[in-house]
Amino acid sequence: MSKNNDELFKNVISHAKEYGFVFQSSEIYDGLSAVYDYGQNGSELKNNIKTYWWKSMVQMHENIVGIDAAIFMHPTTWKASGHVDGFNDPMIDNKDSKKRYRADQLLEDKITRYEKDGKAEKALALQLAMDEALKSENLASLKDLIIEHEIACPVSGTRNWTDVRQFNLMFSTQIGAVAEESDQIYLRPETAQGIFVNYLNVQKTGRMKIPFGIAQIGKAFRNEVIARQFIMRMREFEQMEMQFFVRPGSEMQWYEYWKDTRLKWHKALGTADVKYRYHDHVKLAHYANAAVDIEFEFPFGFKEVEGIHSRTDFDLSQHQKFSGKKIQYFDPEINQNYVPYVIETSIGLDRMFLLTLINAYEEQDLSEGDKKDSRVVLKLHPCLAPVKAAILPLTKKDGLPEKAREIMDRLKLDFNLTYEEKDSIGKRYRRQDAIGTPFCITVDHQTLEDNTVTIRHRDSMEQERVPADQLEQIIGSRVSWKNLL
Ligand code: ATP
Repeated sequence: MSKNNDELFKNVISHAKEYGFVFQSSEIYDGLSAVYDYGQNGSELKNNIKTYWWKSMVQMHENIVGIDAAIFMHPTTWKASGHVDGFNDPMIDNKDSKKRYRADQLLEDKITRYEKDGKAEKALALQLAMDEALKSENLASLKDLIIEHEIACPVSGTRNWTDVRQFNLMFSTQIGAVAEESDQIYLRPETAQGIFVNYLNVQKTGRMKIPFGIAQIGKAFRNEVIARQFIMRMREFEQMEMQFFVRPGSEMQWYEYWKDTRLKWHKALGTADVKYRYHDHVKLAHYANAAVDIEFEFPFGFKEVEGIHSRTDFDLSQHQKFSGKKIQYFDPEINQNYVPYVIETSIGLDRMFLLTLINAYEEQDLSEGDKKDSRVVLKLHPCLAPVKAAILPLTKKDGLPEKAREIMDRLKLDFNLTYEEKDSIGKRYRRQDAIGTPFCITVDHQTLEDNTVTIRHRDSMEQERVPADQLEQIIGSRVSWKNLL
């Protein structure tokens, strides 16, 4: 990370805390590593991202429905899915610092450093060698690459490494009140399996015809070897996943459709094209026949936000095998029974949240001549902004608060609002800029005479005088989901 990017990222993290977006979990006990809580503004922003995803996937597609499956699942689910045996990360320990790392991430960091230093050839050679080692699960070769490229532990600075070993990422716990009767179960490491085991239920009760999709938003848990980069890699996080069931043989056409559709969803928020790119997987997961990541350029480089995977009939076939229940679809158009193929779109809600925050964060110098001034503004899309408008009486007297409350009571049925009467109007504007509120509505003495208010726009800072009874329409047109869908 360059100094500027490093500083930007640090500033975003402290801004997120200072303005009630994200807190370290259990902070009063010095925190819990890689676990975070969302504050009053963070949970609003997160809910708005979820709504945007849900509307565009479920509401806008007649053939996609949503479910909400439990986090705990029958333990055989994870045997069938391959997670018990294969959900591993290659890890390596530094013998001096006793710190543990993911071997592939140490190598990826080195590749990024080569790229930054203009050593494109070296970067490419290392990338290819790493991909090959991961694909063949050659752990010794991963270690050789770490030694060969002189990668040192960031903490101890030494190259005194252990061998690379596999580490299962699933958290387990016990179900059942009495120890002897209890059974080991897992906290789900992905939401997808909750969809697969409900495939028959949804297909039958919803009379769904292929192609169709099942969407879900929910928590997932992974005991990540190392936690880093704030909410980028957490041990408890949220996924927004959709499994799209298709006729075998048509999967590549649907894969391309979803690849394109999902990138458009990201770009509709107004993010610059250059900030996104596709990254095709070289090492395919055991269940996939094609896979691509949608990557965003974070201050620490391009990183995955969403994965689109062609999962074949692997999951449904495995559940058919392990459960002994027939999981098939009768396709009347071709008069055949088959196990459907699946295209998955899987986006991390927390990574999308981080992306949104970083993308919106702007430090602006507003100094004029000798008059120093600055502001931090979150240029969030109005649909995503936690608070849509702030209602601000100019003073605390002369009936202005009462008038402001009257406007607030009317508008709050439609919009999430905030009311503030403390401090100067300028200071109140700045506080709203910092959380990304698109509109500030000031109620002054003229309001009492002619029922007009000033509306101040967050990005341009321009103010205009408008009739108070037009506010629903003005705010409504900017925060309407129609702008995004
Ligand atoms: P990575 O390679 O970064 O570990 P992954 O390929 O294992 O990610 P998937 O299993 O494809 O990720 O999960 C889908 C999405 O879930 C990812 O694109 C990411 O946005 C999100 N995600 C995965 N692991 C985490 C995590 N530990 N913390 C936050 N989000 C995560």
